[in-house]
Amino acid sequence: MTTETTTHEFQAETRKLLDIVINSLYTERDVFVRELVSNAADALEKFRHESLTASEVFDSHMPLEINIALDDKEHLFTISDTGIGMNRDELEHNLGTIAHSGSGTFLSELAEAAKKDVNLIGQFGVGFYSAFMAGKKVRVQSRSWDGGEGHEWVSDGTGNFTISECPGLHRGTKIIIELKDDAYNYAEKWKVESIIKQYSAFVSFPIKLDGETINTVQAIWTKNKSEISDQEYNDFFKFIASGGDEPLYRLHFSADAPLAINALLFVPKENFEVFGFGRMEPGVNLYCQRVLIDQHSKNILPEWLRFLKGVVDSDDLPLNISRQALQDNALVNKIRKVVTKRFLRFLDEEAGRDEETYLKFFSAFGYFLKEGATSEYEFQKELAKLMRFESSKGEAGKPISLTDYLGRMQPDQESIYYINGPSRAAIEAGPYVEMFRKKDIEILYTLEPIDDFVLSHLREFEGKKLVSADRADLDMPKTESDSVTDETDKLDDDATSALVAWLKETLAEQIADVTVSKRLVDAPAMIVNPDGYMTSTMERVLSASRQEKGLGLGASGKKNLEINAKNALIKQLSSLCEKDAELAADIARQIHDNAMIQAGLVIDPLAMVERNYKILARAAGA
Ligand code: ADP
Ligand code: MG
Repeated sequence: MTTETTTHEFQAETRKLLDIVINSLYTERDVFVRELVSNAADALEKFRHESLTASEVFDSHMPLEINIALDDKEHLFTISDTGIGMNRDELEHNLGTIAHSGSGTFLSELAEAAKKDVNLIGQFGVGFYSAFMAGKKVRVQSRSWDGGEGHEWVSDGTGNFTISECPGLHRGTKIIIELKDDAYNYAEKWKVESIIKQYSAFVSFPIKLDGETINTVQAIWTKNKSEISDQEYNDFFKFIASGGDEPLYRLHFSADAPLAINALLFVPKENFEVFGFGRMEPGVNLYCQRVLIDQHSKNILPEWLRFLKGVVDSDDLPLNISRQALQDNALVNKIRKVVTKRFLRFLDEEAGRDEETYLKFFSAFGYFLKEGATSEYEFQKELAKLMRFESSKGEAGKPISLTDYLGRMQPDQESIYYINGPSRAAIEAGPYVEMFRKKDIEILYTLEPIDDFVLSHLREFEGKKLVSADRADLDMPKTESDSVTDETDKLDDDATSALVAWLKETLAEQIADVTVSKRLVDAPAMIVNPDGYMTSTMERVLSASRQEKGLGLGASGKKNLEINAKNALIKQLSSLCEKDAELAADIARQIHDNAMIQAGLVIDPLAMVERNYKILARAAGA
């Protein structure tokens, strides 16, 4: 046991964070009050949870509450709680390092964010260190709920902190802040009271300011919808999301059978994961009879709904359930299923009610739904309905649903077609959509690589197969346009089979098979996939990830080349391969590479450029 005062250095990352907090975030100092209140509330929740199962509890007579005391003569701001407390090791570790993983990029992102929008900082757990926004010196006195010795942690936020023994403390934590000269207003009652009303109104323990309770402890989600104003809902959202913006969607519902559930869920406006802040933590808290049992619960909703903020409360769960037991608890799983289905139904209803807002939602959070569709079978039906894709018959920037697609299918059409590409323009300029255009059959444009994984996982929608248009065995329905096909200008059959045989030989290393296309209209050739479940895009993604993992390029399956016997270049090639085999072979390889590029697949660019110059030189008469 150490009894003397020890001096510790902050971890390097913490020093950087402190530097940002002290030097860049000082304009938004109010948040430090919110952060410290939230830590106090967390500590009280943890204590309450532990005490449910503990046989004995130290200082059990202390009421669970938060006290704030202000001293405007000495310029002190003091906040204390009767929560779980910290022992010496915990003080050293919790208040010396940053819990956040991947701290390196986190810090630079934070520094950026700090310049733009300080509301962000709450979401990234600057947390305790925000005390130094207003304090020139911070003392933390704490005694753990196990009743061990109390300690005091002291720092001025620069390089070091000290920890020494501190006898006579009650259970919990007291943080004493000596305010900076220009932050004396945080010792004024009106100032602190207004901050707490703004940010911490929903803390589920009493907050007393100089002895007077200033919040109303309430579980808003258990109230009747008609008794809650929009303002209250939004305030609650801001409280749980630690954000300043209003939510995009809100779903408040309760059920009695088969399970007693109260849930209040919010979709935020922004998706911070795409801003580069790393993987989001789940944002829904699990309550049981209004007692928090699992904050930021990983169990109550699927991982792909981690963008949701809110509360799920059930009276059916036993209060003293441990966090481990939650993981494979049958009841928790049932609640998870009910709440997830309800939320997905809600999204579907919203999409029907207000398309514009839904598309906003989908562009920010659609990625998560796609993750759900590829990772879990259970909600596929619901998720399929919520997907949106650009389409040949839709406007650019206005993706459509699979249901929209069904409504516009040709009479004999048995499949829903899609093709992946980097952009609408790239797809429309490519060979895959030619026959669709001609036959007036709609085709979806999947612009994100994950889309192909989603559609190949779903396999079908309302009984119609989902088919990628780069499949070798693509089957298209007969349409009126078929009868007007002009066959006169085609390479004759003998010449065609000779060319096919020659191409197979010439491209043997690159290609599995060469076939004559029934669906190319203008383009000379295209790459198609003999493997029906793998699209070119899926293959590119998988091979890139193999490479990333250092597994090498991997033997991706060879593709087929389809040629267009009506195309002028192909017809020329047929005679050229007899007259000038070398040039003809170069052209064949170039056609192959061009088709690969149009399929979004990787080629050897150096070889391609060299060959291309050779062909150009011939064309220029060199
Ligand atoms: P976060 O709250 O996101 O974990 P903070 O920087 O706010 O990050 O706090 C760091 C850690 O310090 C907390 O996780 C907790 O373990 C500990 N801590 C902070 N304040 C208290 C408190 N009042 N009582 C007990 N532990 C606390
Ligand atoms: Mg905190």
